Amino acid sequence: MKIGVLALQGDFSLHAKALAHCGLPIEVVEVRKPEQLDDLDGLIIPGGESTTLLKLMDAWGFVPALEKFHGGGRPIFGTCAGLILVARDVTSPAQFSLGLIDVGVERNAYGRQRESFEASGTAELDGRPEPVEMVFIRAPRIRRLGAGVQTLARHGGDTVMARQGTVLVASFHPELTDDPTVHRYFCRMIEEARGG
Ligand code: GLN
Repeated sequence: MKIGVLALQGDFSLHAKALAHCGLPIEVVEVRKPEQLDDLDGLIIPGGESTTLLKLMDAWGFVPALEKFHGGGRPIFGTCAGLILVARDVTSPAQFSLGLIDVGVERNAYGRQRESFEASGTAELDGRPEPVEMVFIRAPRIRRLGAGVQTLARHGGDTVMARQGTVLVASFHPELTDDPTVHRYFCRMIEEARGG
């Protein structure tokens, strides 16, 4: 299976490492041009700075390419800034987003860089609870969940990991821990989408 990591800005290289630790036959591609999406089975949009990412995505023509990728039923996983980019609406401040998952997010709602924190939680994946390590860095808070969106993990009272169809999002950074649980789950979503 071939998985891309959007490599315009942010911590894309750690996602490649996390995928390598899944123990599955995965080829990882660092995606810098829209044409590279053509033969991928799934895509990770990493954390970083969503406004910067948006500018770069716009400059390289990624917006229509990502809409097509999603429309073709191929899974996308957005973490942190990646979640902001795929959400339906964004506040604090408002900005363009792809609207691939019906959630509303508030940017930087967990505080500044020095208020970053780590937490242990439980995710409900494929009907069974699994422990997950979560690292929050200037993370967005999911403020609204559409009816078609499934909560996979919570922290405090908030949904911090969610899925709608082929789109998976996390407000935390699973790639900053040694815990491959979330990346493995995304790989299962890709297998499912490929009909395997
Ligand atoms: N605060 C960033 C933003 O609003 C996201 C931070 C992150 O990806 N770690 O885009």
